[in-house]
Amino acid sequence: MYKALLVVLTVMPSFLFSQVPTVTRNQVVARMVDEVEVDNLRNYLENLVGFGSRHTLSEDQPTRGIEASRQYVLALFNEFAKTSGGRLTAEIDYYTEKADGRRVDRDTRTGNVMATLKGTDPNDDRVFLVSAHIDTRVSDVMDRQSDSPGANDDGSGVVAVLEMARILSKRPFPATIVFAIVSGEEQGLLGADYLAKKAKTENWNLVAMLNNDMIGNSASNGTQLRDNTRLRVFSEGIPMVETEQMEAIRKVTNGENDSKSRQLARYIKDVGERYVDQLEIKLIYRNDRFMRGGDHTPFARQGFTAIRLCEFNENYYQQHQDLRTDDGADYGDLIDHIDYEYLRKNTAVNVAVLANLASAPSVPRDVSLDLSPRAVSIENINHTLLKWNDPEQGTATGYYVLMRETSASMWEKKFYTTDKSLMLPYSKDNYFFAVQSVGEGGVESLAVFPQPVR
Ligand SMILES: [Zn+2]
Repeated sequence: MYKALLVVLTVMPSFLFSQVPTVTRNQVVARMVDEVEVDNLRNYLENLVGFGSRHTLSEDQPTRGIEASRQYVLALFNEFAKTSGGRLTAEIDYYTEKADGRRVDRDTRTGNVMATLKGTDPNDDRVFLVSAHIDTRVSDVMDRQSDSPGANDDGSGVVAVLEMARILSKRPFPATIVFAIVSGEEQGLLGADYLAKKAKTENWNLVAMLNNDMIGNSASNGTQLRDNTRLRVFSEGIPMVETEQMEAIRKVTNGENDSKSRQLARYIKDVGERYVDQLEIKLIYRNDRFMRGGDHTPFARQGFTAIRLCEFNENYYQQHQDLRTDDGADYGDLIDHIDYEYLRKNTAVNVAVLANLASAPSVPRDVSLDLSPRAVSIENINHTLLKWNDPEQGTATGYYVLMRETSASMWEKKFYTTDKSLMLPYSKDNYFFAVQSVGEGGVESLAVFPQPVR
């Protein structure tokens, strides 16, 4: 793990822990965030749309179609691998998608371009996965012939993931980061479904999955709305996969707004806004847009912690449309609609989050809210006693105990301690709590919602 400077800008006013600084920007992470280059994003995107169509069922040709575009992405990953000290490796994970009578009309060889940045700690099996989809579509989802540039959907996500791989692969992280450029999203989230099932079958310790789908457009239809200062993070509340025990605990703790995916979403807002200026990250309390899904959904269905990053305003003249002019309006997902400054900021959020997560220790174990006789004695009844154990991976130099009102979206108060328990003079009836591990340089793990223990 690299040595990081600690920048101390503010001191949290707390009568209990007044000596404790609040970390703002870790300088190593900040430097990586600064390395996101508009010129690179533009260059990758121009090449990507140059393949004409990247429809999943498009024919293999040397300079057109999805396979040629996959080869381009693979070549870039391999280029980045050269300066990674052997830690970044890339391949196309091919498989055959069987005809399904829906959006795949014949057996099709397809695949995901996978680049893996191996963690430096052999005892750390954590995986953080970031994805985007390379395939595109026009008005008819089965149209594999027409030009289908997919500049924003999801060329924007693909080039963002490429730029993340370029920057992050130059640095050592104890945990592994996987960059996945999947196929088949428009045909039914097929490549992501294949990958999620593989991660489940192979028992990956996949801690968090970030799906970047449409992050480069800042204007709504007819450009009534223009905004490149807000980014959405979609996260599920009640997990799609929940054991009976998880359900029972959720109900007694009222933890429906504290799922792992929602903790990840809060983390993205906290860390993303810490490192990226002029960007507000909006938590959207749903798995995806109304009645729709994305590549994080198959991961959620396998029980993983997965969220979607998406632009604030979608433009339906440009999404899933044949290239044409109708009544003076231009239709189609063309590259001239990309807002590169917005795309840069959204890419930078991912860099900040992945760098912070992959260099932090893992979450504290056994985080509990103590309901033992002492903890709920008359003297302590209006207090809250939290306990936990040290993380399984990495070293925690301390812990943050987070607190918010039950009606608040984000954590409002943060207490630092080097102990493994903390008694707070705030009632468990009136607040929600969570605990994060903090590593050297102030990098923190995801937050863990405590389980009640008597
Ligand atoms: Zn998409």
